[in-house]
Amino acid sequence: MAFADFHGNHEIVRSLREMLARDRFPHAVILAGPQGAGKYTLALMLAQTMECLQPRESDGLPEYCGVCSNCERIAQAADLDARFAEAVEARENLRDTDKRETRILVQTHPDVMIVPPDPPQMMIKVDQVRQVIQSSHFKPADARKRIFIFTDAAFMKEAANALLKVLEEPPDFANIFLLAKNPGELLPTIRSRCVTFTLGQLPTVEIEQYLERHRPEWNPRQRQLAARLSGGAIGRARGLDLEQYINARKDALAMLNAALQPGDHSILFRATETYKAGGDGKEKTDQLLGALYSVLKDMMALISGAPELVRNIDITSELKSLASPVSFAWIAQAAQQLGQVQSGMRRNVLRSLSLDAFALSMET
Ligand SMILES: [Zn+2]
Repeated sequence: MAFADFHGNHEIVRSLREMLARDRFPHAVILAGPQGAGKYTLALMLAQTMECLQPRESDGLPEYCGVCSNCERIAQAADLDARFAEAVEARENLRDTDKRETRILVQTHPDVMIVPPDPPQMMIKVDQVRQVIQSSHFKPADARKRIFIFTDAAFMKEAANALLKVLEEPPDFANIFLLAKNPGELLPTIRSRCVTFTLGQLPTVEIEQYLERHRPEWNPRQRQLAARLSGGAIGRARGLDLEQYINARKDALAMLNAALQPGDHSILFRATETYKAGGDGKEKTDQLLGALYSVLKDMMALISGAPELVRNIDITSELKSLASPVSFAWIAQAAQQLGQVQSGMRRNVLRSLSLDAFALSMET
């Protein structure tokens, strides 16, 4: 990997590297952008460039070597899902008292600390920030900088206040990255102490071209669908499980059809029955909710006379007939109800029940 492998947002990448070249890199940076836009990938690339033992140049700008021991150790954090799962498992194996006190951190290099949201709430907690504060007092051990990467903007209140303290007086050798899908989630006082860079969406055509190389097993229609579903985020397009998505969408369509044709609920119950709590239930339900949102958005695009915005282009005619009897108000209400299902899931309300309630409440 090198900066040339980073797709899109060339201007932003260039200015970040220019700041590195001039040794004027801000202590705290917010990398904003949708999921899959490359925020984490870019943060790791910058971390490698800051810590590389054999730094070089490409296009006249700082570049990392990718093979020195610092680059290699930092690169081990690239598969964040895997490292996160390992950290969670390690905590599960602790004694109960230790378990409660242990916060999830990913650290494949002693000077680069990655702070993901801590389960089960999936928020960044004050103890995690305290560990950041503690380690920010020590000079880096094996590299030039101490780097902290918060992978999400969902901070518990106390954690946000603790972070603010670090941002007020960051040590010279510390660099903090905050990755945010929605920087609005961060306290204004935090935002004002950071420099924000927003990774924008890539054009659909560019994503399709990228997929041609990276998902050659997909046919052009599948690539087109994936590019549209990704919302301009390349990582999301590449990582998309199309088959899983299409299955979830089938259930989403069944639920919406059931809601729009009241009376027979057997199809609805058959669809929601498979969404049980526990195990992979959460992921499956998330997929379903995501599919419901994307179908609702497309229905909205169709009734607003903007068919070019439709993402599920392979089922346009089905979407048209689904959308024809409904109003804006109905779709807005459906989206709001979905939000309630999501917050219910966070509180662990039985999934299949809240899904049924959702569909039944949408009956016209
Ligand atoms: Zn290196």
